[in-house]
Amino acid sequence: MNRPNPGAVAPCPDSGTWVSDVPQRSPEATNARDIIVAGAGVAGLSAAVALADAGASVTLLERRPYIGGRAYSYDHPALEETIDSQHVVVGCCTNVLDLCNQAGMADTIRWYDELTFLEPGGRRSLLRPGSLPAPAHQAISFLRAPMLTLRDKAAIAAGLARFLRGYPADDTESFASWLKRTGQTDRAIRHFWEPVVVGALNDTFERCSVKYAGKVFYESFLRSAPAGRLGIPAAPLSEFFSPIAELAQRKGVAVKLKSGIDRIKQTPDKRWQVEAGSEVYTASSVILATDFRQTKNLLAGLNSSTNGEAALNTDFDKFTVAPITTIHLWYDRDVVGIDHAVLLDTRIQWMFAKSRIRRWPAERGSYLELVISASWLELEMGREEILSSAIREFELFFRAARTAKLVKSGVLKEARATFSVTPGLDSFRPKQATQWPGLYLAGDWTATEWPSTMEGAVRSGRLAAGALMGDSSRFMAPELPAQGLMRWLSRQ
Ligand SMILES: Cc1cc2nc3c(=O)[nH]c(=O)nc-3n(C[C@H](O)[C@H](O)[C@H](O)COP(=O)(O)OP(=O)(O)OC[C@H]3O[C@@H](n4cnc5c(N)ncnc54)[C@H](O)[C@@H]3O)c2cc1C
Repeated sequence: MNRPNPGAVAPCPDSGTWVSDVPQRSPEATNARDIIVAGAGVAGLSAAVALADAGASVTLLERRPYIGGRAYSYDHPALEETIDSQHVVVGCCTNVLDLCNQAGMADTIRWYDELTFLEPGGRRSLLRPGSLPAPAHQAISFLRAPMLTLRDKAAIAAGLARFLRGYPADDTESFASWLKRTGQTDRAIRHFWEPVVVGALNDTFERCSVKYAGKVFYESFLRSAPAGRLGIPAAPLSEFFSPIAELAQRKGVAVKLKSGIDRIKQTPDKRWQVEAGSEVYTASSVILATDFRQTKNLLAGLNSSTNGEAALNTDFDKFTVAPITTIHLWYDRDVVGIDHAVLLDTRIQWMFAKSRIRRWPAERGSYLELVISASWLELEMGREEILSSAIREFELFFRAARTAKLVKSGVLKEARATFSVTPGLDSFRPKQATQWPGLYLAGDWTATEWPSTMEGAVRSGRLAAGALMGDSSRFMAPELPAQGLMRWLSRQ
């Protein structure tokens, strides 16, 4: 079922190397490349592009037959559709947006200033910027929102005011404890804090640090209107990300698919030897842009006298993952009349009308995705049960779906979608430079000050590339400036 859809550049079935109009080098030359990046997820791609830009010769080795890592799409043979789990960005994701600009793909992101919150029955609350300066730019729409009473709004405003100067540097308190401490009402939690935090951090309040929840609210609701804009890729993810792989190749990066790394070791002359199947590569430096489980395994085999965890001052067992389940529905017509919405008081957090976001013509019917974050319940459920429950809930919000023809449907479960920013995890997220000269780490889970996101992944790749070049911040895009009164209030 997992036939990858790498977009404009096709993987060659024999070699696993991407075929493009860039001339390929001989295997001998490839094996003598200076830097090896392991993992062509968003982190590995961003590291490879940054290093190639700086003139390094880079080989990017990816275990799977496609790039993008968790940010991927695939052709579903039974459905005859390309499907993915919708990924979104916000305006403050300056590094991923910078990379998209570099690859000339920025206009494949659709931007939205307004968030629609829907209650069962269809009552709408809109949050959108108005004429007041930040941090009050959304205040007028917030005060008008029928989903909250005056008491709920007062509690939320008092809560948000705590993030005016920024989010806490310390990550040890849980968001659950913060909600209690700040006296949030039940409805304020259900209709505001929960949809935003569970949607952005993909876990329950007990397993989310208030530092990262605060960061989400600070960036999305307080810092400035541009920082909180919602950006939705208007193409399936592998197609969306393929210009970055093409950019890497144009800059001379050798992208080798189906090249899973089994072992790395340091040679007596302090170079690095990397074994990937029957291929052996040597390099002056290696960036492991792999997930934390793979990184743990690769480091464990590194040096029998040095325990990888102790050397990094981390404990990989502190990292936990959370699932996301998405439900894909194709109707014979538009049943929603809106591009996306937050659905309240249900298992579903978000509805994305992908056919509208992708500007399908009306005669093609409609394609919707329903997202259930932190979906442990659904992990245990069968496809039919998930579908019938989701459609039942969905029809409470969009009555037109009851009479439209459901043409086809699918369910996609991602059991290890994101790592959780559990309270206290920061002290276990390793920096990109390691104690081994020439060995660097990347991946959303490393120390980035971001939760599990594409932005965190790009930052990690750029930080690793910068550390390798002797200046960690060298490749980092600037943050968006605070606006309005936040220029004086904010210390971040
Ligand atoms: C369902 C879902 C929804 C999400 N929604 C959003 C969203 O809306 N917004 C957002 O910003 N983020 C979202 N994310 C998170 C985002 O996808 C990740 O944070 C990001 O893609 C992580 O990138 P990465 O490069 O750090 O890791 P990965 O994507 O895990 O990449 C690691 C790569 O390393 C490769 N690899 C592993 N071992 C080896 C080996 N031994 N040799 C060679 N290669 C190896 C893997 O195959 C993989 O390609 C979502 C994720 C999922 C799954």
